[in-house]
Amino acid sequence: MPVLLLNASMQPLNVISRRRLVVLLTKERVAFFDDSDRALVELELEHRRLGEGVIVVRLLRNVVIPRRMIRANRRNLLLRDAHTCQYCGLRAAPGELTIDHVVPVSRGGSPNTWENQVVACKRCNGRKANHLPEEVHLRLARAPRPVVQEYAHLLLLRHPEVRSAYEELIRSVVPPHLQAPSPGAVSVRLQPLGQNS
Ligand SMILES: [Zn+2]
Repeated sequence: MPVLLLNASMQPLNVISRRRLVVLLTKERVAFFDDSDRALVELELEHRRLGEGVIVVRLLRNVVIPRRMIRANRRNLLLRDAHTCQYCGLRAAPGELTIDHVVPVSRGGSPNTWENQVVACKRCNGRKANHLPEEVHLRLARAPRPVVQEYAHLLLLRHPEVRSAYEELIRSVVPPHLQAPSPGAVSVRLQPLGQNS
C-alpha cells in the first residue's frame, strides 16, 4: 500500500510509510479524497494486511517546500515556462529559446534567481537587450515565480508506482486548462485550486 502524501495545494510531497500515515491520521493532519479510501485503509490497518492499491492523502494545511532545493538553471526555467517565450508567447524548441534577465544583470538584476529569469525567444531577447521590459514595450505573460513543483516532478519520477494514481486524481479535480501540457512537465501548473502558494 504505497501512500502518496500531497500538500494542501495538491503538490506531491512524499511517499510515506503506513506507520507515518497512521501518525498523520491520528494527529488529524491529513484527509482522504474519498470515503472508500478511508474505509479501505481502516480495514487494512485492522487486519494488518497491506493492499496493493495506491492511497493518496492530502495535508489539511500547506507546508512550505524550501526553495533552495531547486536551482533556477536553464533546464528548470524551460520547464517552468513550458518552453514558451514569456513576452510574445512563442512556444519553441529549446535551441530557439534563451534565458532573459528581466532586470539586466548590468543594471543590478540578480543573475540566478527564479524571479529575475524568464524564457524568451531570440527575437524578444534581442529587442529587450539591456532594457527593462517596459522600456521597450514588452510585457511578461506572468510574474516569474520559483518552481517548487519541480521537486514533485522528481518525486514522481522516483516513485513510478504512484504516478498514475496521482495523474488520475489530478484529472478528476483540476480543470483541463490548468493541467500540465506534457508528461515531462507534469507538475508544473498544478497549483491553481483557488489557493495561493
Ligand atoms: Zn518572444
